[in-house]
Amino acid sequence: MNATEPRLPRRPAGARSSALATVKTTERKLVGIPVSPGVAIGPVFGASEAPAAFTRRKIQAADIQAETARLEMAILQSRKQLLKLRARLGNLPEDSQAEIAPLLDAYLQMIGPSRLVRGLRRRIAETLVSAETAVADETEAIATAMPSEADPDGAGRRADEVREIGRRLVRNLTQTPFRSFAALPSGAVLVCEGLRPADAALLDPSRLAGVATDEGGSDGHTAIMLRALGVPAVLGVAGLSQASRPGNLVVIDGAAGTVVVNPTPETLAAARRAVTAFARGQQKLARLRRLRAVTTDHVEIELQANLEIPAELPLIAQSGAAGIGLLRSEFLFMNRETLPDEEEQTETYRSVIEAMGGDQVTIRVLDWGGEKDIAALQAEGLVPEVTDENPALGLRGIRLLLRQPELFETQLAAILRASNAGPTRVLLPMVTNVSEVRAAREIYERVGRRLRRRGERLADRLPPLGIMIETPGAALSADALAIVAEFFAIGTNDLSMYTLAVDRGDADVAHLYDPLHPAVLRLVQFTTEAAMRMRLPVSVCGEMGGNPKLMPLLLGLGLRSFSMNAAAVPRVKQAVRAANLEECAALARKVMEQSDPARIRDLVLGPAPA
Ligand code: PEP
Ligand code: MG
Repeated sequence: MNATEPRLPRRPAGARSSALATVKTTERKLVGIPVSPGVAIGPVFGASEAPAAFTRRKIQAADIQAETARLEMAILQSRKQLLKLRARLGNLPEDSQAEIAPLLDAYLQMIGPSRLVRGLRRRIAETLVSAETAVADETEAIATAMPSEADPDGAGRRADEVREIGRRLVRNLTQTPFRSFAALPSGAVLVCEGLRPADAALLDPSRLAGVATDEGGSDGHTAIMLRALGVPAVLGVAGLSQASRPGNLVVIDGAAGTVVVNPTPETLAAARRAVTAFARGQQKLARLRRLRAVTTDHVEIELQANLEIPAELPLIAQSGAAGIGLLRSEFLFMNRETLPDEEEQTETYRSVIEAMGGDQVTIRVLDWGGEKDIAALQAEGLVPEVTDENPALGLRGIRLLLRQPELFETQLAAILRASNAGPTRVLLPMVTNVSEVRAAREIYERVGRRLRRRGERLADRLPPLGIMIETPGAALSADALAIVAEFFAIGTNDLSMYTLAVDRGDADVAHLYDPLHPAVLRLVQFTTEAAMRMRLPVSVCGEMGGNPKLMPLLLGLGLRSFSMNAAAVPRVKQAVRAANLEECAALARKVMEQSDPARIRDLVLGPAPA
């Protein structure tokens, strides 16, 4: 996902269609992707995005080429977003399609070989201004010059369209990642076209009833954040922002994946009963907290929690998790303009390790890239200003850290200093090569030696250094990686995405994203067996590991350690306590003989309802 979410345009000024007006009073049910369980009832809070801010800037003649290249990249990005929106129009009601399609075409034309684009290039070269400045000036000049007397409505609309495309280009140029939820009233349901992971990190779960968006997939980082926060959520609801308006009452069911706009009194009464039933179920699960995670044949299974933001610590403590199996450290770098220094990072890691009271904490070093865009890294010039054409395959995870050793060393030093506070492990993201692990270990040991010289008291053995197995390349070389790594954490989210070539956060291809695809399962099996042969600890920390229905299969494949969003721990524990390892192994054997994903789903999840 890019820094800018594709968004359907507002209703064009002067348009007559009543597609939007008709949704006001009638109940309307929309279906999306169930992301985080729970039922929410509340008024819609529409989080529109503030215009991207930028400073007007002059450039040198020598910078014309670079500035024009930035502009071309923003045009390309905008084009992709608009084409994607156009492709998704089929999900909307026909009258909305008829209204919006010509508008999208007009936008696409404007950023084709148009007067606007020629004007932008000329402005950069002739008036020596930055791309953002050129876009703002040129679109405003064109909009203002539109003759308004002959056709006041039409001209006003066209001027708006030019300004809108200008806003999109500036947003892509500045990659503005911030969105404010300060005005979100307590008990509201947040409804917007798309929500970035950095936005989700800003939400206060105690004020928010639920979240529903047009965009997004089940295992994208936004979905993960929302599950972590325990907020009922449905993503990928096509046409939602067209079908609802701020203030409309909505009911969202995060387990069923439904959103009802303007519910009837009957729907509302049923939703209220569902809220009560859900709360009662949660309470029942809470009683499992003190029970051990053991199978019926008395094998202890390790259940740990994933942590996205420190606000989750109380939830983790209440969940009965035995430590943190994946601390995604990106939160420390998000929503800020400068990077956290060694002191700040040390304090943060130390407070988490101390809060876990002697249970293990696995800290993953920064996993930048893909959909996880971080403004501070851009501001410091550590990552390209314009995201690669193909960010999921670019400078992600360990690749960036080895390219920017200072960033890596600061984080490692902070983790090592904090590791005095309790059992700690260090985890490397997006590894594909043995050489990356060797290079990372060299840096890790060098940082250890430097800290010792500085008088820091570290344990004789540095905390174990392990790796994420989240690419097919890593999974298939698990036996070689097992020699250089001290533990494996299988990241089934990225593993599914890269194996199946399906963006994990993209609603358009969500139906193809399937961690139960035999190809993904074979990679999980290969990795697990390689680790077991080498007696290497191995866990699953992707979303698969938090799905109670998948426990029998994963246990049957030999896995004994899982890390998941805190809210999932009780349900997974319930599944573990009902499991018998011999039966699990028999199930796994049967599943692994299958090549048809539908048959695998039947075996693992039970037959789909007719
Ligand atoms: C994964 O890819 O499965 C994983 C756990 O890492 P993240 O979701 O943070 O990319
Ligand atoms: Mg990952």
